[in-house]
Amino acid sequence: MSKQFDVVVIGGGPGGYIAAIRAAQLGMNVACIDEWKNDKGGPAPGGTCTNVGCIPSKALLQSSEHFEHANKHFADHGITATGVKMDVAKMVARKDSVVKQNNDGILYLFKKNKVSFFHGRGSFVKAADGGGYEIKVAGAAEETLVGKQIIIATGSNARALPGAAFDEVNILSNDGALRMGAVPKKLALIGSGVIGLEMGSVWRRLGAEVTVLEGLPTFLGAVDEQIAKEAKKAFDKQGLKIELGVTVGEIKNSKKGVSIAYTNSKGEAQTLDADKLIISIGRVPNTIGLNAEAVGLQLDERGAIAVDGDCKTNLPGVWAVGDVVRGPMLAHKAEEEGVAVAERMAGQHGHVNFNTIPWVIYTSPEIAWVGRTEQQLKADGVKYKAGTFPFLANGRARALGDTTGMVKFLADAQTDEILGVHMVGPQVSELISEAVVAMEFKASAEDIARICHAHPSLSEATKEAALAVDKRTLNF
Ligand code: FAD
Repeated sequence: MSKQFDVVVIGGGPGGYIAAIRAAQLGMNVACIDEWKNDKGGPAPGGTCTNVGCIPSKALLQSSEHFEHANKHFADHGITATGVKMDVAKMVARKDSVVKQNNDGILYLFKKNKVSFFHGRGSFVKAADGGGYEIKVAGAAEETLVGKQIIIATGSNARALPGAAFDEVNILSNDGALRMGAVPKKLALIGSGVIGLEMGSVWRRLGAEVTVLEGLPTFLGAVDEQIAKEAKKAFDKQGLKIELGVTVGEIKNSKKGVSIAYTNSKGEAQTLDADKLIISIGRVPNTIGLNAEAVGLQLDERGAIAVDGDCKTNLPGVWAVGDVVRGPMLAHKAEEEGVAVAERMAGQHGHVNFNTIPWVIYTSPEIAWVGRTEQQLKADGVKYKAGTFPFLANGRARALGDTTGMVKFLADAQTDEILGVHMVGPQVSELISEAVVAMEFKASAEDIARICHAHPSLSEATKEAALAVDKRTLNF
C-alpha cells in the first residue's frame, strides 16, 4: 500500500529539510526521505552541510584556531601556555558530537512540525496504474510514497580527479579530510577554493606542512582582486604554500603516501610528495539513484536537474532545489530555494534574490562578500565609487589583536546605491550580514555611513568604509 502526501521531499540536507518544514508550516502533509547514515547505520539528516560540510569544517576550524592561539598568541596577552598539545582523536570526536547535535535537532524539528521522515533512498518509479510516478523508498523497510508535489534536494558529491580516485585513506575528499586521525607531516591540496582553503588552514594550524596546487593563474578569481590579494598576503605569512597556474599530471598513490607530478606556472616539471592529498576541485550535482531517466526528468549539460527561475523541473508537480540545480553551491542558497518552493506550492510568492547571496570563506582572516566585485563592475561598464577602511585603524580589532584586512564598499557613482561589499579580516562572516540587509533594502553607502554603530566594534569598519566612498573617513 502506498502512503499519500501533499509533498514528498527527496533529500534531507539544508534544501530538503527546510523545504519540508516550511511546507508543513503552511499546512501541507509532508514526507522527507534521506539516506545518510551515521556510524551506527541510523539516520543522519542534514546532508553534506551537516555531516561532511559546513558544520564539521567549522568545528575543526574552531579547534585548530584555539590551538594556534594557545601556541602563538596567548603570550601577547601575558599568558604562559607550555606543553600545549593537540589530541586529534578528541578534536574529531568533538566535531562528531557537534554533527550529531545537528542531526538530532533536525529529527526533533521534523517531529515538532509533523513531517514524516523516511530513512532510505528515494527513487522515481512509474506508477502501478501507468499514469504518473511514485517514490519508492529503499531503506530498512521498503515503502512507496505518493506526493501531489515532489521536491528533489539530493545535493552534490565531491568531484574526483581522473586517475586519482578517492580512497579516503591517502587521497581524500572533504569527507576524509574531516576525519583524519592524525596530523599529516606533509599535506597536499589540489584546488584553492573555499573548501581547500578551509581544510588547508585546519591542518596547517595543527602543524602540517601544507602545499596547495591551483590550476588557475589568479588566486580566488571570484573574489574582489584587492581583497584576494590581501588574503593571499596573510596566508603566505602563515606559511600556507599556494602555487598558482599549475597543471597537475600523474598522481601515484602508495602505502608511503602520494606523489603528485605537476608543471608549475613557469613550465617546469615538479613533483610534490605528501602523506595525504585532499582534492577539492568542485562538486557535481547528485542524481545517483533517483532513476530520473525512467520518468524523463531533464538534466542540463552539467548533469544538474534543469529548472526554471521558480525551481520547476520539466515534470509537472516536480521541483528541485539546492546543489542539484544551477546556482551557487551554498547551504543558505539551498535553504532559501526550499522556502521559496514551499511557499509557491501554497500559492504564495516565494522569492530568492541571487544578487544578495552572501559568500564566506571561514579561514583566518575570514573572507566575505556580497554583490559585484570591482572587476565585474569594470567589465559591466558600470561607473562606481570605491571606499576602503583597514582593520588596522579599528579600535576593537586592535584590542582583539587581529588587525589584518579591510572592508571595501562599491557604490554607484551617480545614485550611491551599494553595488558590492567585500571584506577580509576578523569575524567578517558576521559583519557581512549588515551589507546583505543594506543591499536588500537598496541602501546607499551614505545610509550606512549615517547609521550609529556601537563603539568599539568591528562593525565600525563597515561604517567607515561607507564613509570612505565619499572620502570622509573619521578614523583613518
Ligand atoms: P546536501 O546537503 O548535499 O543534501 C542532500 C541530501 O540528500 C543528503 O543527505 C543525501 O544523502 C540525500 N540524498 C541524495 N540522494 C538521495 C536519494 N535518492 N534518496 C534519499 N536521499 C538522498 N555551504 C555554505 O553555505 N557554508 C559553508 O560554510 C559551507 N561549507 C562547506 C564545507 C565543505 C567541506 C563542503 C563539502 C561544503 C560546504 N558548503 C558550505 C556547501 C553546502 O554543504 C552545500 O551547498 C549544501 O549542503 C547543499 O544543500 P542541499 O540540501 O542541496 O544538498
